[in-house]
Amino acid sequence: MAKKYLGQNFLFDPSILHRIVEAADITHNDTVVEIGPGPGTLTKILAGVAKKVIAIELDLELYTKLKEEIEKIKSSHPFTHLPTYPFNIELVHADALKYHYEELEPFKVVANIPYYITTPIIFRLIEARKNLKSMTLTIQKEVAQRIVGKPNTKDYGVLSIAVQYYGKPELKFIIPKSAFRPVPKVDSAVIHIEIFEKPTVTVKDEKLFFRIVKTAFSQRRKMLSNSLKPISKDIREILTNAKIDPNRRAETLSIKEFAILANSIESA
Ligand code: SAH
Repeated sequence: MAKKYLGQNFLFDPSILHRIVEAADITHNDTVVEIGPGPGTLTKILAGVAKKVIAIELDLELYTKLKEEIEKIKSSHPFTHLPTYPFNIELVHADALKYHYEELEPFKVVANIPYYITTPIIFRLIEARKNLKSMTLTIQKEVAQRIVGKPNTKDYGVLSIAVQYYGKPELKFIIPKSAFRPVPKVDSAVIHIEIFEKPTVTVKDEKLFFRIVKTAFSQRRKMLSNSLKPISKDIREILTNAKIDPNRRAETLSIKEFAILANSIESA
């Protein structure tokens, strides 16, 4: 029985699983971290193309089952010295939100993410991005659309900026909910996020930058001269000096304009 509270919606269709691996652009030099391997369908395909797969599963029952299956394949394998499948799978029983990604060699993440932790996992990975090259994630379609959202659209917001500041997200394809077992309530999408070595824009104070973004979008229908008052009582003047019309709304500002604004507030 799938555990709903652990976001267990499994994928078995080999053609979809192969498309995910293709979107992740994995080569035999790559270390891949898979979050939530579940029954291991994606894990085994990944292990066939990657140098190493570290698969982190929280559910002890699924972890134990997959562990036994991998051990069985290993013991029936004649070439026990091979550094490849199935010997390159390291199965870990842990909470992916608490994993020490910082200590890994350069790696790529591939995951059909449990829905209940979609944004915390993305933020945890961004925080631990030192050696993270890319993430290829199967997530709810609506969240994927927000991540790739561009200015002047309803999808554009804090999540778009938080991800696009650190990387380049691309929506690869949609997976209809009917492809999952059990069938979830919403469709999913596969997104690929390439992590930049340096953020897209130069910001002197990242905390302030994100505080401005969050404050501006917390009242997204208001003009910036009003919504950003909690940041500074001189906000109208600061906006004008930064050549941003104080009558504009949050969703019209590019990431670059938010950066210009943050930098001019910092030096105001
Ligand atoms: N990759 C599989 C399973 C996806 S379902 C497939 O595509 O079919 C999500 C998986 O994440 C489940 O196996 C669930 O037990 C696991 N999971 C849920 N919360 C987790 C957490 N915090 N850390 C690691 N794995 C988790």
